[in-house]
Amino acid sequence: MNKLGLVFDNRYLHHSVQTASPENPDRLRSIYMRLQQKLSGNMFTRIQPREASDTEITTAHSPFYIKQLCEHAIKENPYSYDKDTYLTDDSLPAARLAAGGCFALTDRIMNADIDYGFALIRPPGHHATPGRGMGFCIFNNIALTAEYLRRTFGLKRILIVDFDVHHANGTQEIFYETDEVMVLSIHQQGIFPFSGEAEETGSSAGTGFTINLPVHAQFGDSEYTSILGRTLQGIVEQYIPQFILVSAGYDAHRDETISGTELSTQWYATISHILRRHAAESCRNRLLFVLEGGYNPIILEKSIFATIDALLQDTFDRPGILPVPRAEKILDGHPFRKYWTI
Ligand SMILES: [Zn+2]
Repeated sequence: MNKLGLVFDNRYLHHSVQTASPENPDRLRSIYMRLQQKLSGNMFTRIQPREASDTEITTAHSPFYIKQLCEHAIKENPYSYDKDTYLTDDSLPAARLAAGGCFALTDRIMNADIDYGFALIRPPGHHATPGRGMGFCIFNNIALTAEYLRRTFGLKRILIVDFDVHHANGTQEIFYETDEVMVLSIHQQGIFPFSGEAEETGSSAGTGFTINLPVHAQFGDSEYTSILGRTLQGIVEQYIPQFILVSAGYDAHRDETISGTELSTQWYATISHILRRHAAESCRNRLLFVLEGGYNPIILEKSIFATIDALLQDTFDRPGILPVPRAEKILDGHPFRKYWTI
C-alpha cells in the first residue's frame, strides 16, 4: 500500500485571468511538473479528481449563490463579482473539480487504500461562506469535504486544522453551530478577513467547537509549534476526532510578503509530523491536507514538498513542544479553555 495519495490535475491551472493576481496558475505549475517526474518512483498514488455536483455543493452553499456565480462567470469583467475573486468560463469547472478532488481522496482514505492525502488544488476555499465567495475562494473545499464525511460516512467528530495565515472565516461560519465539526484556526490577527478573535468560540450545539488562535506578526516556528502543539494535544485527547482535515495554507512563511509571521520551510514538516501522530492516535491515520493560500511560488513549492516528504517518511517524529513566553500569553486565559483542558 502506498500510504500517500495526491490529487493534481492540469485542469486546476485553467482558472486564470489576464490581469496580475497573487492567486494564479504559476503557484502550482512547477510543483505539478516535479510530481509528474516522481510518478514512476511509486512513492505515492495519483488519484483522479471528479467534479462535485450541485447537490454536493449545496451541503455548504446556498443554491442562490451557485446561480449568482454562474451569472457572473459569463460576464466580460472577471472581477464583476468580487474585487479579488475573479470568475471566468473556466472558473466554475475548476472550483467543482477542487471540491471533487478532495472527495476522491476522502473515499480512498475511508477505504483504507491510503492513509494520508494531499489535494494540490485551486482555487482555494476557506474564505468562502455559505452565500459568498471572497479572498480568491469560490467553494469551501474543506467544509464540503467535512460535509461529505458526515453525509456519506456518517462521521460525527471531524477536526479541521487551519494554519493558513488568514482566518478560516468561511469554514467557521459553516460549522459555527455544530459539535460534529471542530474548526481550529491559527492566523495572524488584524489582517484579512479581519475576524477570528479568541472570543469567537461557536454557538448553540457548537459552543466550544470553534477555536481561534490569533497570533502576532513576528511569531515564528517556536511560537507556532508551542501554541498548536499544546492545543492539539488537549483537543485530540478529549474530542477524539474520527478524521483530521487540514486547511494547508503556506502564506505564514517568513518569505511571504502578504503576512508578517515568520515560519520557516521546515516548520511545515514539523506540523505534519505532529498531525500524523494525532491521526495515528485518534483516527487510524486518516489525515487529509487541502491546499489553501501561499503566493510565492518558489516558497510554496519548497514548503509543500516539506509536507509531502514528512508524510512519506516511514515513521513520524515527535518534535519537542516547549513552552515559549509569547505563546503562553496567547494560551493563558484563552476562552476555549472553558471547554477544553490543555
Ligand atoms: Zn491565506
